[in-house]
Amino acid sequence: MAQARIADASDPEAIREAARIIREGGLVAFPTETVYGLGASAENEAAVARIFEAKRRPRIDPLIVHVSDMESARRYGVFPNAALPLMERFWPGPLTLVAGKTSLIPYIVTAGLDTVAVRIPAHPAALALIRAAKTAIAAPSANPFGYVSPTEAEHVAGQLGDTVDFILDGGPSAIGVESTILSFETSGPVVLRAGGTPVEDLQAVLGRTDIQIGSVLRPSVPGQMKRHYSTRTPLEIREISENYNAAAAPRAGKQGERIGLLTLSLMEDASRYAAVEILSPAGDVREAAAGLFRALRRLDALALDRIVARPVSEKGLGLAIMDRLRRCAAGD
Ligand code: AMP
Ligand code: MG
Repeated sequence: MAQARIADASDPEAIREAARIIREGGLVAFPTETVYGLGASAENEAAVARIFEAKRRPRIDPLIVHVSDMESARRYGVFPNAALPLMERFWPGPLTLVAGKTSLIPYIVTAGLDTVAVRIPAHPAALALIRAAKTAIAAPSANPFGYVSPTEAEHVAGQLGDTVDFILDGGPSAIGVESTILSFETSGPVVLRAGGTPVEDLQAVLGRTDIQIGSVLRPSVPGQMKRHYSTRTPLEIREISENYNAAAAPRAGKQGERIGLLTLSLMEDASRYAAVEILSPAGDVREAAAGLFRALRRLDALALDRIVARPVSEKGLGLAIMDRLRRCAAGD
């Protein structure tokens, strides 16, 4: 297949064209506030099958369904009462809620589950596309399965440009990490994936501090795979003292080894690293999350021997950042 066309996501004509492709069963990569999505009509089994093929994503890994308003959310999902205040407060936004599936959603979307993951994205182009397509859009991140998610149209074009039909370019994603996924189990709310909506904010709205993190009930929920969001370059998480003393410290690695450093803020002496990515000079985790995947991709493009990532505090978006780094660091 030829290289997909890329069009400006703020151009109404491009949105109309993208919506036409979705309605006809094609694949459109589009910007959201979290990362770029690889979208197909959620009601079209064959189109959804193309998503799995394009990403080489296992069919056991369910997709998130994107809708433009509450009314359509309810056409596709049956939400527990406890979810209502969260929908009011966080939609549109980076929160995905697991609901009962209605018959409009084919099982290929949910990997055979009777539940469906739904969210309203907070991006004008994503919303315009969903409205114009007149259907919900099933969309995982627009990257080959297991690799770092795309936060720019160019990332999509480079990796999936010959398998998608059309790419909407909306500039860099503002949040930069995927949505938080929340499920309501009989034992209470469970965060299945830390993401763009901080758990502290969920706690505040739900008025409870007992939100579980990670599905202990169903450790094998599809998509909770350990190694994910991964660079090809091996990555390890390691704290490095700010007062690093080059003369006294042991050698960082083998002779001639080229190491990349991923750090929240500037270090006093980073001269022994072949490349350094500073996520937020001011130490702001929101800024760090927004630039995380771009930084990982940049380091991964340098053919380094390894990447050392310094841990960040797991408050706010720091939890999502550390989740992505841990999964990137996990062995196969
Ligand atoms: P993404 O790869 O960003 O599209 O996120 C999809 C992830 O959402 C999957 O890998 C699952 O972890 C989660 N997910 C989607 N649907 C469900 C569901 N019905 N129940 C539980 N988790 C789900
Ligand atoms: Mg993904």
